[in-house]
Amino acid sequence: MARQATCDVRGSARAASYLFGAVGSDSARMRCRLHALVYWPVCGRAIKVALLVGTILLAINQGDVILTRHVTMLVVAKIGLTYVVPFSVSNYSALAANRLRHS
Ligand SMILES: [Zn+2]
Repeated sequence: MARQATCDVRGSARAASYLFGAVGSDSARMRCRLHALVYWPVCGRAIKVALLVGTILLAINQGDVILTRHVTMLVVAKIGLTYVVPFSVSNYSALAANRLRHS
């Protein structure tokens, strides 16, 4: 039986659940669930996607409210969620694509 790989982050002894980069290459990184969530190449890209897509959705969904200055606390909460949704989708998609399949 093969030994289960562990997370590459120093001090983390958790089982690796994700592999980022090509197998066997110097850039390959194993990550546990916790460290995969904050793996910067993925997280940074998700932030960029959220800023772009969130701003487009903000203009579509709340543009008239902002332009007419009818911003309420509810609208502010919706604006926050408008950025959280594309961030979550982007991050989830990257994690799902890089998940290790244990047999
Ligand atoms: Zn870890």
